[in-house]
Amino acid sequence: MNILLIGGGGREHALAWKLAQSPLLTTLYAAPGNPGMADDGATCVSLDVTDHQAVVDFIHQNNVELTVIGPEQPLVDGLADTLSKHGKKVFGPSARAARLEGSKGFTKDLCAKYGIPTAAYGRFRQAADAKAFLGGREPPFVVKADGLAAGKGVVIAASREEAHAAIDDMLGGSFGEAGAELVIEEFLEGEEASFFALCDGETVLPLIGAQDHKRAHDGDKGPNTGGMGAYSPAPILDDAMQARVMTEIVEPTARAMAAEGSPFTGVLYAGLMIGPRGPQLIEYNARFGDPECQVLMMRMKSDLLPALLAAVDGELAHFAVQWHDDAAMTVVMAAEGYPSTPRKGGTITGISDAEATGAKVFHAGTKRDGATLVANGGRVLNITAMAPSLRDAADTAYAAIERINWPDAFWRRDIGARALNR
Ligand code: ATP
Repeated sequence: MNILLIGGGGREHALAWKLAQSPLLTTLYAAPGNPGMADDGATCVSLDVTDHQAVVDFIHQNNVELTVIGPEQPLVDGLADTLSKHGKKVFGPSARAARLEGSKGFTKDLCAKYGIPTAAYGRFRQAADAKAFLGGREPPFVVKADGLAAGKGVVIAASREEAHAAIDDMLGGSFGEAGAELVIEEFLEGEEASFFALCDGETVLPLIGAQDHKRAHDGDKGPNTGGMGAYSPAPILDDAMQARVMTEIVEPTARAMAAEGSPFTGVLYAGLMIGPRGPQLIEYNARFGDPECQVLMMRMKSDLLPALLAAVDGELAHFAVQWHDDAAMTVVMAAEGYPSTPRKGGTITGISDAEATGAKVFHAGTKRDGATLVANGGRVLNITAMAPSLRDAADTAYAAIERINWPDAFWRRDIGARALNR
């Protein structure tokens, strides 16, 4: 079977690496892919994925039987709808279903209507109304742009003044259309974790949980990033808690989406706060997390491809996925200056030495300059390891990092600390 994988980050490299192990795979095309995906056998193609007709043409010309969409933007833009309309199999939700990620206000209203536990909230288009809502409440205040803002559209304001500034900034256009509406919500106490499930429009198949580190520096300091590392399992998401997340949050969401006429097909990624009130939904994403996908793919024992096909074909009710009991960790190596101004172009060597430790190096932001591998993004490499204990996985990942020679790199030294110190 020929597959087209859309995307070229660490998440897509992990998906490509896992798909490459499937006996069902013939050719894996990646658009745009990256050098690590090419090393693992993918055929990287340059394809403008905002040009949906071009994607359809490519699928026809190359006998692609399944398209897997990695990132959120093409989903929100309706690429899955176009492919379905042309009778093509696609793993990823329709634009209407991807509103679970693309509009925070939509998701909050859905939760309110169907009794799904989440923070109390209000939706606003006028600054005066938003500020009035804060009136009788106490900080911290959580102010969010409604639409996609690449993880930067959330401000946790410690004071009223800071919240007012965030409201003025977002409604003033600093996030464009994504900030034309705001969600202001109650601050939730607890520990964050992510839970993933496959959904075929009706049935939900639980995958596993993970935790990530969003801040750039050790001790959860510094600016927010796309994620500096992740590990799985997440100790706080034990079997009992996973069962609650399924029955209280994920299954009701899938039922609600179907009832609203927007059945969800793909990966439901629930961002959760686990606190005194039990699991609460912070947000949904409509795709695998990056870098959580890297640890999920490491721990997945069974073939990924039939699972994706079962989701697309509406056959999850009869499906099961097997997992390794071992723990997995991924540590992101980022370029100096990330997240604001990452330094590009530095030469990277030592990847095969690093992999000799048993770790796998997923590429996130690299390119080849002739025979040389160079940094070409903010998050550049994801060093991923699996071992019987999280401590051993961490030791392997960090030992692998020591073998990589790339002077512009920085990485957190404390990935997994919360779980390791438990
Ligand atoms: P990303 O896609 O990068 O996960 P996002 O921009 O879609 O982020 P959210 O996940 O909704 O935004 O929020 C980002 C972070 O802000 C959360 O991971 C969490 O740490 C914090 N946060 C969001 N909402 C709340 C809340 N109600 N209470 C406490 N913390 C919150």
